Amino acid sequence: MTFREENRGGVILETAPNIRVKHAFTTRYGGVSEGVWSSLNLGTTRGDVPEHVDKNYDILCSALEISRERLCFTRQVHGTVVRPVTGADSHTLFTPIPYEADGLITNEPGLPLICFAADCVPILLWAEDVGAVGAVHAGWKGTVGDIAGHAVREMVRLYGADPRKMQAAIGPHIGYCCFETGPEIPEAVLQRLGDEGKAYIRPKGEKFHVDLTGVNRALLMRGGVPEENITASDGCTMCRPERYWSHRVTRGERGVQAAVIQI
Ligand SMILES: [Zn+2]
Repeated sequence: MTFREENRGGVILETAPNIRVKHAFTTRYGGVSEGVWSSLNLGTTRGDVPEHVDKNYDILCSALEISRERLCFTRQVHGTVVRPVTGADSHTLFTPIPYEADGLITNEPGLPLICFAADCVPILLWAEDVGAVGAVHAGWKGTVGDIAGHAVREMVRLYGADPRKMQAAIGPHIGYCCFETGPEIPEAVLQRLGDEGKAYIRPKGEKFHVDLTGVNRALLMRGGVPEENITASDGCTMCRPERYWSHRVTRGERGVQAAVIQI
């Protein structure tokens, strides 16, 4: 099952057909930022004009019909911490976030969770049986650190979710086509997945290509999520720099796209 594209007043969003609550993966299209941040930049620390970022949040929140005042952010550090959040964690833009985490989960209705990526893997989770959601940022470190499986297990532990009924969506990120690495990432994949990991590694000369969708899907499945409940975007951030921000393509001169979900 592939993602859908939705145009909400010029805001181009990708949505996953298996996640039947409010959610979206954003693209570059639909905001007011200019230059390297053009146009729907949602990052506050990338050097963009603050008024533009502010306006972009208004645009996104109205396109998704979510409350901007209730948005829950996180300070992503390429770790594996998953933070359960409540209304007390709702946050105002441009103020320091008092915690670090690469995953947010909640079972509180009306509380939108947001995470960011620009080559890294954004993952959204929905536990229909208990009314809980999660938003996860998985770079290669978070991926091999199994933040995806950790988020699933935390939703099981804290909210009583049945992982066999959970739905997951893996958003646009640097694809198998483009994610070229040295040996350290394949080694970490094999350490995490054993021989199963070989399916997600392709040698290319002295380098390797690594399939981050495949690794995260395998880890979600090890967490108990059935394969048929996992969808993935076919968008590669590096192949389509006009549509997505890619850290590698822009060498860091860029905005960020987001993944948002709310129960
Ligand atoms: Zn690519």
